[in-house]
Amino acid sequence: MLLRKREIELSELAESIADYYCPDGIVDPEKIADSIGITYSYGDYGNAFDGLIEQEAGKFHIFINIKNNSSNHVRSRFTFAHELGHYFIDEHRHALLNGKTPSHPSFTNFSSKNPVELEADHFASSLLLPENRIKKDCIKKPFNFKLIETLSAKYQTSITATVLKLMTIDKHPIMLVCSVNGRIKWFKYSHDFPFKWLKKPAGITPKFTLAGTYFSNKEKFEEELPLTANEWFENVRDSEIERPFFEKCIYADKHSFVLSIIWEK
Ligand SMILES: [Zn+2]
Repeated sequence: MLLRKREIELSELAESIADYYCPDGIVDPEKIADSIGITYSYGDYGNAFDGLIEQEAGKFHIFINIKNNSSNHVRSRFTFAHELGHYFIDEHRHALLNGKTPSHPSFTNFSSKNPVELEADHFASSLLLPENRIKKDCIKKPFNFKLIETLSAKYQTSITATVLKLMTIDKHPIMLVCSVNGRIKWFKYSHDFPFKWLKKPAGITPKFTLAGTYFSNKEKFEEELPLTANEWFENVRDSEIERPFFEKCIYADKHSFVLSIIWEK
């Protein structure tokens, strides 16, 4: 997790770039690259990376791997924005220019714990979903999955990227939990989320949650459903056991993957 101060810094940097190069309509990473003279190519690069930025003699080139997502425009946009982050974030660009990291492969799966990757991911979601624009879209709207879907369609971003950005704008405390095969792969929460500990045993998707239900009997839920704090969280005070939350799941059967979006009622 990035420090709040750093998150704000990166968000402001990304937003200023979005506003400068793409003041109207959708933010287009290709247009930004063209404007600053970064070249790019899309190709099948096997499983080596989703995106890569290289520097040679001060010239930068971005590679976007379309092997697994030739039809996934949304994913390529995020990967592209992430690689732009490695250019626009001063420390990342200097490292590339100094040859400290001649190039490094990046993956668009949000599971990295490497701070450099976390920074580029946060930059990417802030570039594609500029804070002031989405704040305007959120005014007087209740927080629910419909809002997330509307924003993700409008800004051409994945549900995950959209939630990750919403987590940082203080609209509503949110938690995201990614489970694979009944085990928790990663989780993230907004700084103001009221609970920080997931239910024990550690690393196992809690049984009586929507995600847990999918792993025990493959049952899926289209809609967001209410649950109580003690179903997902550990160390819940007696008075808060019944504190109401919502959970909405996104399923990917092929990989036995479930993304849970959890927010307070
Ligand atoms: Zn990266």
